[in-house]
Amino acid sequence: PFRRATRIGAIGVSEILKIGARAAALRREGRPVIVLGAGEPDFDTPENVKEAAIRAIRDGETKYTILDGTPAMKAAVSEKFRRENGLAYAPDEITVGAGAKQILYNAFMATLDAGDEVILAAPYWTSYADIVAISGGTAVPVVCREENGFRLDPADLEAAITPKTRWLLLNSPSNPSGAAYGEQALRAILAVLKRHPHVWLMMDDIYEHLVYDGMDFVTAVQLEPSLKDRTLTVNGVSKAYAMTGWRIGYAGGPKALIAAMAVVQSQSTSNPCSVSQAAAIEALTGPQDVLAGRRAAFAARRDRVVAGLNAIEGITCRTPEGAFYTFANCAGVIGRRTPQGEAIATDSDFCRYLLDAADVAVVPGSCFGVAPYFRISYAASMDSLEEALARIAKACGALS
Ligand code: PLP
Repeated sequence: PFRRATRIGAIGVSEILKIGARAAALRREGRPVIVLGAGEPDFDTPENVKEAAIRAIRDGETKYTILDGTPAMKAAVSEKFRRENGLAYAPDEITVGAGAKQILYNAFMATLDAGDEVILAAPYWTSYADIVAISGGTAVPVVCREENGFRLDPADLEAAITPKTRWLLLNSPSNPSGAAYGEQALRAILAVLKRHPHVWLMMDDIYEHLVYDGMDFVTAVQLEPSLKDRTLTVNGVSKAYAMTGWRIGYAGGPKALIAAMAVVQSQSTSNPCSVSQAAAIEALTGPQDVLAGRRAAFAARRDRVVAGLNAIEGITCRTPEGAFYTFANCAGVIGRRTPQGEAIATDSDFCRYLLDAADVAVVPGSCFGVAPYFRISYAASMDSLEEALARIAKACGALS
């Protein structure tokens, strides 16, 4: 009989994937399901980036590259960190992998031993907890309250730190809450870390370019250079440049950590795709004007979704600062009954009801470690968002 490795443990197919599979099945039956679950921009990769990739193929950039990024790719990342974040990372302080996800995986595999703890700010991207588990570590979720804008309370962070804490993983703007840390909020977190020199910081900046209302994006090392020797600044091209399929993520960090991460990558995937690296160089160093227009489009959708949700009795939604997600509170519908007489006892029940009764696929907050909430990805056309909101309103109105 088949036996799973204990390292995989109880990690199952995520609830998110199950919802996706159910939505796909309903679609095959001919139902007009609107899926608002995807974590990817609905825009296309910019033309100049595609052209750079085509050129790279023609020029024969089709072979193995240096393990963790070509010199040109590392130079592009170094230039990006300097230009956009005011950070000085040398080539040997930079690593490039197949997506920010591989960067996170490399970092945890390279640093965690059994019993080592990683503090996650809940709600958190589900992969964080699973990657920590596969790496043999222990995820320690700390709930970020809605009243605190879904940001980590410095006192709660301090209380969660133990001698076994290796990392704090912070994601701003956040998937799934859209919450972002401004300078003041981030400084308060960093002040706690300064008091605990054994705790390293993993900053997941992947949604950097998606902040709204004129908010300035800030990252940790920029505010607190003294933390540079224990911070990994993670980023990638997936979300900013609509390049999810190209699989390029990167990070800047201390030399010894970067070298240890290269060991993990060397025995898994080797170099990230050569053609994708050429494309990412163009994305990071070419014209950046595509970003502002897309940011404005996302902001308009966010405003529409937040307003639409708040107009529904039983649902409330704070205005997120960034990313392309809303994280709405559905406490007001818990305890109600569907027209079929089924009780809505949890946010998962509510999301199942929305899929079955309203043909709208969204993800319950419990998937991300806090309930009762649900996440909408507004990386979808304004028309489909309007239609989804109307359907959710109707479905909620049918509850008793
Ligand atoms: N970090 C967060 C918070 C994400 O939401 C995602 C993708 O959904 C990633 C990292 C990974 O992105 P990629 O591996 O495509 O670079």
